[in-house]
Amino acid sequence: MTTQLAAGAAGEDTAYDADVFVVGLGPTGLTMAHLLAARGLTVTVLEREPESYGMARAVYTDDECLRILQHAGVADEVHADMIVDLPVQWVKADGSLLAQFREPKRPHGWPVSNFFYQPFLENVLERRLAERPEVTVRRGRSVTRFVQDACGVTVTHVASRGAGYGKADLSLDAATPEHIRARYLVACDGGRSTVRTSLGIDMAGTRFPQRWLVIDLQANEGTQPFAHLPYFDFVCDPQLPTVSCPQPDRRHRFEFMLKDSDTTEDFEERATADRLLSRYVEVTDVTITRQLVYTFNALVADRWRSDRVFLAGDAAHMTPQFIGQGMNAGIRDAENLSWKLADVVLRGASDTLLDTYESERKPHAQAMIRLSVLNKDIVSTGRPAAIRARDWSIGAATRVPGLRSYLGEAKFKPKPRYRPGTYAGMPRRWRGMRGVEGTLMPQIPLRSMAGRPVRLDDELGQGWAVLGVGVDPRTVLGAPVWDSLAPVWSRVFPMGGRPSGRGSRGPTPGGLVDVDASSDALARWLRLAGADIGSVIVLRPDRHVFSVTAPGHHADAETALAQLFSSPSKRDARCLLGVSP
Ligand SMILES: Cc1cc2nc3c(=O)[nH]c(=O)nc-3n(C[C@H](O)[C@H](O)[C@H](O)COP(=O)(O)OP(=O)(O)OC[C@H]3O[C@@H](n4cnc5c(N)ncnc54)[C@H](O)[C@@H]3O)c2cc1C
Repeated sequence: MTTQLAAGAAGEDTAYDADVFVVGLGPTGLTMAHLLAARGLTVTVLEREPESYGMARAVYTDDECLRILQHAGVADEVHADMIVDLPVQWVKADGSLLAQFREPKRPHGWPVSNFFYQPFLENVLERRLAERPEVTVRRGRSVTRFVQDACGVTVTHVASRGAGYGKADLSLDAATPEHIRARYLVACDGGRSTVRTSLGIDMAGTRFPQRWLVIDLQANEGTQPFAHLPYFDFVCDPQLPTVSCPQPDRRHRFEFMLKDSDTTEDFEERATADRLLSRYVEVTDVTITRQLVYTFNALVADRWRSDRVFLAGDAAHMTPQFIGQGMNAGIRDAENLSWKLADVVLRGASDTLLDTYESERKPHAQAMIRLSVLNKDIVSTGRPAAIRARDWSIGAATRVPGLRSYLGEAKFKPKPRYRPGTYAGMPRRWRGMRGVEGTLMPQIPLRSMAGRPVRLDDELGQGWAVLGVGVDPRTVLGAPVWDSLAPVWSRVFPMGGRPSGRGSRGPTPGGLVDVDASSDALARWLRLAGADIGSVIVLRPDRHVFSVTAPGHHADAETALAQLFSSPSKRDARCLLGVSP
């Protein structure tokens, strides 16, 4: 049975079952629930499938997303199961190298290249969610209706035997409705989002006709069938474009592009898999765990917000898998939206802060989609002239030093840097690459006063943070806005920059995170930021830079923050107080 969702107006009750409902327990919903709870909100998650999927779709994640999972408190555990620092290469049909990407630097404190097995990742996230008292997970419950009003969203959900993740028709029990109410609803309900559809929100972009066969393999006991395939390969073979991807736990994925004349039925036959796989491995050494033909979409929802309802993950954007960024985009959404919802609910931030979720995230998601489509074209082109042009230009680029690092270090990847005028923060003071307002601060290696290595984000916690460069920021700030923000105060010194000797002795400031850099990375970043000794840097909870101010100008940051935090609308204030508007 399928059920349409209905969105509409209702009464304005201010009794809530949770601050936020999350619909869907894929990677976006899992991360969203963790981060909302970590930032102080109560959450109910509704998932229509009684069991987790148990199969891999995503295989790759990057350093920025591991940093987000660090904020969710799960990064160390999920990372322990990943293959890390794996070079990614583009090779010709004969195996000769066209280009290779490998990035040993760790600007965000994690490897840039990480390959994982999705069921491991999801199992850890779901198991650890059960440890959070702020979160209630309801599996086997399908959202069939929601109604929003000035103060909240009322959801109807019913028992569901699920749809086997698309394998069967959805089976619901309409006789088991429950009605619950929250301040906000976040739809993480996937590419076919029924929440998005019921809101009448369209998706713009391209649905590609090309089909790819995805085969997941596990090595049989006592065999080493993948030892000769150590790296991630895009095989640019015009006869059979192929992807070869190492995975943890003796697993491997192959993807093969179908020609127009190939049939999906034939490519989902075991005999076809054996024929294709035998180009790379001994088929008797492997077990096929999954064999499925996919098409892919490059689509973005026209709107990501309808008052108190937000779209996130595949519900908001669908990224072709050719740069492994679809799930990662959903993880980025969770980071961006969760702190904003927490600040509106708990710290009286203005409702307009929630509009910056879409204005910040959408251009980045679109840029990732464009890059993914470009890579698809590079890998799968079959026209001889285009192949010659591709091979020549990649070959030339790898011989020019600046271009070589552009390719080899993936500098073409969209940066975590918001466009001027779109983000919550003070305007960037310089054009071009200088100026850090609206960018993600790197997670620079630090050492504590006790001389131990520490991670910046672990030291700063979940909320706002204020860094004084060589100065206790509390001594130069004092506006009332800090009372509601309750930031972590920190004094940072570039490597070797801490004053020493008797003359430098003063009272040890209490309640301060006091750290030195343990590399030159902080000094370099401070130069980029234009921040000298005495400067103050305000970091948002997602560690994007809100402001950088020099001595004498700190009140500018306080004024900008006060504008964001002292003006919840009358309606929101009344909802938060539990008084119907
Ligand atoms: C072959 C392939 C390879 C990929 N490789 C990568 C990669 O390497 N890296 C990467 O980042 N991305 C990759 N992706 C993309 C990635 O898998 C998706 O972007 C990601 O899974 C989307 O997660 P999500 O949580 O937004 O949605 P989903 O995983 O689709 O989860 C949505 C959930 O919502 C539930 N739901 C739906 N409707 C309701 C309802 N009414 N009530 C309750 N629950 C509901 C569903 O049951 C489901 O569990 C790949 C995709 C494919 C197909």
